[in-house]
Amino acid sequence: MKKYTLLIDMDSVTVDLMSKWFKRYNEDYQDQLLINEITNWDADLFVKPECGKKIYYYLSEPGFYRDLQPLPHAIEVLKRLALEYTIFIVTTSPKNALIDKVEWVEEHLPFIGSSQIIFTHHKAQVKGDLLFDDAPHNLISFQKSGGIAVAMDYPYNQKVNCNRVSDWLEFESSLKKWLPHEKG
Ligand SMILES: [Mg+2]
Repeated sequence: MKKYTLLIDMDSVTVDLMSKWFKRYNEDYQDQLLINEITNWDADLFVKPECGKKIYYYLSEPGFYRDLQPLPHAIEVLKRLALEYTIFIVTTSPKNALIDKVEWVEEHLPFIGSSQIIFTHHKAQVKGDLLFDDAPHNLISFQKSGGIAVAMDYPYNQKVNCNRVSDWLEFESSLKKWLPHEKG
């Protein structure tokens, strides 16, 4: 029996959401906004006023999530970790993207499978030892609930005081250091 359960976020942890998202925005609004310039979770603060909260409309477009690329080393590391740990993909989703996300996991992470996806806005309610995420509110709430939070490092989550890594290889090599040797 696998001893630990890892909860893994999709967007901007496993999946490269922002490249496509901001490419679409930059094309439509003739801007040159870079991912590294997003220093706050609320992306609408960084776009042109004529875009504003419309920046989120892209995320509700049917099919938007389906062809996103995995982030570097995400698939290979998850494949190795799945041998040793129970893994759940824990993600929030716009209504229109639910099926895209299921199909994405079936295509790219068949060794985990879509039965291991948990859709929720409340990740701290999910039972697991460790959450790997990028969203400040998820990291903070999971940590407060007693779990181990690990941030994928981005300018917008710098203020969160938790473990952090800059990529999947660092996550893999650091994992044992965060998980207690003997539990309970
Ligand atoms: Mg995310």
